[in-house]
Amino acid sequence: MSYVIHGKTGDWEVVIGLEIHAQIISKSKLFSGAATDFGSEPNSQVSIVDAAMPGMLPVINEYCIEQAVRTGLGLKARINLHSVFERKNYFYADLPQGYQISQYQHPVVGGGKVILDLPDGTTREIGIERLHMEQDAGKSLHDQDPRRSFIDLNRSGVALMEIVSKPDMRGPEDAGLYLKKLRSILRYLGTCDGNMEQGSLRADVNVSVRKPGEKLRTRTETKNVNSVRFVMQAIEHEAQRQVDAYESGGTVVQETRLYDAGKGETRPMRAKEFAHDYRYFPDPDLLPLELTDAYVEGIRKSLPELPDDKKLRFIGDFGLIPYNASVLVSEKDIADYYEKFVAEVLVRTKLPKERIGTECANVVINDLLGHLNKAGLDIAKSPVTPQMLANLQALKHDNTISGRIAKDVFEIMVETGKDPADIVAEKGLKQITDTGAIEAAVDKAIAANPTQAAQYKAGNEKVAGWFVGQVMKATQGKANPGLVNELLKKKLKD
Ligand code: MN
Repeated sequence: MSYVIHGKTGDWEVVIGLEIHAQIISKSKLFSGAATDFGSEPNSQVSIVDAAMPGMLPVINEYCIEQAVRTGLGLKARINLHSVFERKNYFYADLPQGYQISQYQHPVVGGGKVILDLPDGTTREIGIERLHMEQDAGKSLHDQDPRRSFIDLNRSGVALMEIVSKPDMRGPEDAGLYLKKLRSILRYLGTCDGNMEQGSLRADVNVSVRKPGEKLRTRTETKNVNSVRFVMQAIEHEAQRQVDAYESGGTVVQETRLYDAGKGETRPMRAKEFAHDYRYFPDPDLLPLELTDAYVEGIRKSLPELPDDKKLRFIGDFGLIPYNASVLVSEKDIADYYEKFVAEVLVRTKLPKERIGTECANVVINDLLGHLNKAGLDIAKSPVTPQMLANLQALKHDNTISGRIAKDVFEIMVETGKDPADIVAEKGLKQITDTGAIEAAVDKAIAANPTQAAQYKAGNEKVAGWFVGQVMKATQGKANPGLVNELLKKKLKD
C-alpha cells in the first residue's frame, strides 16, 4: 500500500509519526489518591496535589507503573529498569503547578513495535520509539459564561502514557490501521479503554513530505485529534498543504497546528516549542523509579493472549485467511464470541473445526457484525447469542432450512431475539426435501414454460438456472436447491 501525492513537480512521499496520549485505567491519579471517573461534577475529584497547593508532595501510584510496564510488554518493548520523572515547565491556565511531571531523558519503556494487518492479508511493522508516563492537565471551560472561562481540575494529575511511534507510516491508511491496532492492544491489556470521544486516547500527528529518496524535511504537529477518521483526514490535508507550499516556492515551518474537522483543514496554533524551551529537570520531589527484573517478569507472566498471537492461533486452528482472522481478533469480545460460536456449532454438527471455521467466520463478520454496525451496537449487546447462532447453523447443516432461508431467519432473529427453531416453525420455513413435492413443482414449471424448455434442449444450459429460480419462487424458497437442480436437469432432458 503506497500513498503518493502527485504534485506539479513530481511525486511526493508522506512521512507520518504519531504521539498517542493514552489515559491509564486506574481508580486514582498518578501522584494523588483522587478519583478518575469520567463525567463527574467539575472539581469534585481534586486533591491538594492536583490543585498544586503550596507544600504538596506527589506520591507515585504503583498500579499506574504496573500498567505502563504491562503496556510496554504488550508492545514487545524494552522495559527500562531505571527511569526518571522530570518537570516540563510551561505556563497554562489549566496547569496549576506551572509544570507537568513527565519523563524525558529516561522513559520507563524504550523501543518496541506494532504490527499492522493490511487488507490484502500481509503485515507491516511500525516501530515504537518510547513510552513514558506523565500527568494530564486540567480543562478550561470556555462555553459556560459569555465573559469568563472556568477551570475544571478533575483531569489534572490523571495518569497518561505517551506512546511515540517512529516516523514509519507513509499514508493516512497506515495511520488509521496503526491507531486501531494500538487501541486494540491497549484494550486487550486493560491498560486504557481507548475511548477517543471521551479523550482517553488522543493523537498528535506529525507530518512531513519529501521527494522519494530525500532526507526528512520539516514536520508539523497537529494536536489532539480525537478520532481515527479525523487523524486520516488531518494527514491528507496537512500533506497536501505542505506540497502546495513547497511547489509554490514557499517553505514549511515547524509548528503546532489544529485540525478543524468542520472546515476540513489544519491551521496554525503556535510556533513549535523545542525541548529546551521547557527547561526539563528531574523532579526533586520524586526519586528515580527503580524496577527489578523479577517485577517485570511477574507482569509478563500475567499478560493475556494478545491480538497477534490470537490471530496466528485462529489461522492454524480454524483454517482462516489472515484478513478474516485479524478482523475477528480486533476486539477481545468479538474473538470470544467467535470461539464460543464455533464450539457450539461443533457440538451440534460433529463436523471438524477446519470445516466450519471459515463458514462461522463469514457469519460473524458479514451477518452479525454487519447488523451490529448498522444498529450501532457492541457485540456484548448482541441480541443474538453464540448459542442461538449455532442453532441456526445446525438447522442449515441438517438441511432443515436452505442457506437462502437462513439469511431471512437471521434477520428475524436480530429483530426479535427469538430462537431460530421457533422462527422456522412459526413461519413454516422448513425446507422441502420431499422428492415428490419438488418433482411436482418442477413438472409444473416445465409445463408452464415450453419455450424455455425447448431452449434448454437446443443446448442453452443457462436456462436451467432460470428454471431453478422459478421453482424456488413457487416454493417460497423452501425447496432444497440441490434436489431442485438434480430433478430439473433430469426432467429437462426427457
Ligand atoms: Mn505529552
